[in-house]
Amino acid sequence: MMDLDFDKNHIWHPYSSLINPPPVYPITRAEGVRIYLEDGRGLIDGMSSWWSTMHGYNVPELNAAMQSQMEKMSHVMFGGLTHEPAIELCKKLVALTPEPLRKVFLADSGSVSVEVAIKMALQYWHSQGKPEKSKLLALRNGYHGDTFGAMATCDPVNGMHHLFASQLTQHLFAPAPQPKFDEPCSHEDIGELAKIVEENHQQLAAVILEPIVQGAGGMRFYSPEYLRKVRELCDQYDLLLIADEIATGFGRSGRLFACEHAGISPDILTLGKALTGGTMTLAATLCTDKVADGICSGEAGVFMHGPTFMGNPLACAVANASIELLLQRDWQQQVNNIEAQLREELAPLKNAKGVADVRVLGAIGVVEMKNPVDNKTLQEQLIARGVWLRPFGKLVYTMPPYVISKEDLSQLTSTMVEVLGNLQ
Ligand code: PMP
Repeated sequence: MMDLDFDKNHIWHPYSSLINPPPVYPITRAEGVRIYLEDGRGLIDGMSSWWSTMHGYNVPELNAAMQSQMEKMSHVMFGGLTHEPAIELCKKLVALTPEPLRKVFLADSGSVSVEVAIKMALQYWHSQGKPEKSKLLALRNGYHGDTFGAMATCDPVNGMHHLFASQLTQHLFAPAPQPKFDEPCSHEDIGELAKIVEENHQQLAAVILEPIVQGAGGMRFYSPEYLRKVRELCDQYDLLLIADEIATGFGRSGRLFACEHAGISPDILTLGKALTGGTMTLAATLCTDKVADGICSGEAGVFMHGPTFMGNPLACAVANASIELLLQRDWQQQVNNIEAQLREELAPLKNAKGVADVRVLGAIGVVEMKNPVDNKTLQEQLIARGVWLRPFGKLVYTMPPYVISKEDLSQLTSTMVEVLGNLQ
């Protein structure tokens, strides 16, 4: 048996207390869409381990890619050296992401790729002789990570980081987008953001946002027209657009990249989470030739970042295998099927008394409750029914692996309906 007492007393878990630790459940293995508890019970992972395991677990193709790379080299420094897995991966990323994103920086986690994106924007304007363009415009309800640069762009109130407010760079924030995914975006809907841009563009380096799906800051889906209008404003006032697709990338929202819903391309794009199919930590920041040329023709002459594990060959090799698998399988059909089934099977919750809203986009299903849920009790109920979810505040949501069967997805949704339907 695992030493859960040691875990409880010595090990930090994400956003956890070591005085009053929440329960953690011991997992010994995972296969397909199921994670297995130490006592042998299998749970359907409705979270895809936080948006990452899109192909499920213990995937032979991904295992084989890691095995084969491991036998060549697990790691080698990227300073002054290069290797096939990185070259192949960057080729794939350049080919798949919207034009004109053509340059790739391989980072080691989502938050770091956001730091890199911010640095790129700042260094770009510095190189242009406009160092005063150093602020970012972010959206309320946005979430971009836990490191200091990324934290400063998260919603200052609900972004989980207000404790550090005095230490964070003060950026500008526009209200969260109001028009929903299937709604148009009026002049007024973009009015506040447009005003901030008009009044502050001389000190603004970039707008940073999560395209279409605001994740950890509220699980909100907004209008593609809103995103198009932001792109237009960036062009009009000479700001860079940073799209954080760490959560939405690789098909999750129903398009390969969420920007495609709006038919726009950012100047800088961040990717992570599902990049390796949830096997290893790896992220990427892509930028246009214009941004890269701008940076490299400036005072420093180089881009000022270079982590130890940059371009880790093992992670790149499995990312290549994951992308190949995604493209080989009909991911679009898989995601469309999940979307249709989530819409149909979560619909009964719309009438439940404790439920404020039910929304679905791509392979993401969200039930927003009227009141915050009691995580511990809810998780016990879900686990007793063979389901793993990690509710957050008022939000109980699922983004299952794309390979989930119709039956398993039905078990997941019927469990949500049963457990949430009775809550106040
Ligand atoms: N941006 C977005 C949109 C995210 O959802 C996350 C992770 N929740 C991050 C950035 C940070 O990524 P990581 O946790 O890998 O540092």
